[in-house]
Amino acid sequence: MEYRERFRVAEGKTLSLRDIDPGYKGHHESEEEAKEETGLYCRKLAALQTLLYAEKKHAVLIVLQAMDAGGKDGVINHVFATINPQGASVSGFKQPTPAELAHDFLWRVHPHAPGKGEIAIFNRSHYEDVLVTRVHGLIDKPTWEARYEEIRAFEALLAANGTTILKFFLHISREEQLARFAERLNDPAKNWKISEADYAERERWDAYVAAFEESMARTSVAHAPWYVVPANHKWFRNLAVSAIVAETMEALGMSYPRPTVDLARIRREYHEAVKEEAKEEKAARGHG
Ligand code: ATP
Ligand code: MG
Repeated sequence: MEYRERFRVAEGKTLSLRDIDPGYKGHHESEEEAKEETGLYCRKLAALQTLLYAEKKHAVLIVLQAMDAGGKDGVINHVFATINPQGASVSGFKQPTPAELAHDFLWRVHPHAPGKGEIAIFNRSHYEDVLVTRVHGLIDKPTWEARYEEIRAFEALLAANGTTILKFFLHISREEQLARFAERLNDPAKNWKISEADYAERERWDAYVAAFEESMARTSVAHAPWYVVPANHKWFRNLAVSAIVAETMEALGMSYPRPTVDLARIRREYHEAVKEEAKEEKAARGHG
């Protein structure tokens, strides 16, 4: 199955999250069954990152958005655990600081965009500025309409500069969210993740759904597609995200850079010479 085709948000069409089953499991029945395939994609991803880093022609930006407890941290933990931290970065975007609020909404985001050879992961992103701000009435319709265009222009700029952009909405059900909140309340190792705000935001579920649907429909373009990934099952979410990132990076057709030095000459004039030296040293030691 081509995971990319299956979960991509179509360009220029309305999107209805209600029509996408958050409990979808694909062709596997259990985590155990999916393990091998997910492992395969994660290893592929690690190899492709090495290539990305060596070639230094492309950059990769991964945007993670979700309702609270949707699994953004889980994806970072599980899918990107195998990649080399060198050449990778994770940036989280929380409530803006006064300095950030004094600037345009993309000001704080741009410095975290990946350079050539790098993968950057956004845990929340510039999309918060058409989501939470809209849901809380901090901006009006003309402002979010304008921001869709500004986001499109910003992402087009990154893409034109060699950045491959992938945007994921981790799709969980309202019931699954409550179950995860309960887990955070009950598991001492997860207590730190829960707050009153999570319950307050939950009350605005439908408003968030509407904001997500419109934002994704308006900004899913060929060079920066959105993927709605069913995420009630964490193992399926990890499988789908790893598959989509690996498929996308594979399609870049990267190759290791051609050597800029004369390898034959180095072999002949340096390597062989050093080998000779080592042989002589060994012989000298043997005599001594
Ligand atoms: P997360 O929930 O992402 O794992 P967290 O639980 O550690 O992070 P929170 O304070 O719950 O931290 O999340 C960050 C909060 O900041 C979210 O409620 C998010 O909507 C909010 N936020 C992010 N960007 C903006 C923005 N541009 N304007 C207003 N609020 C924002
Ligand atoms: Mg939170």
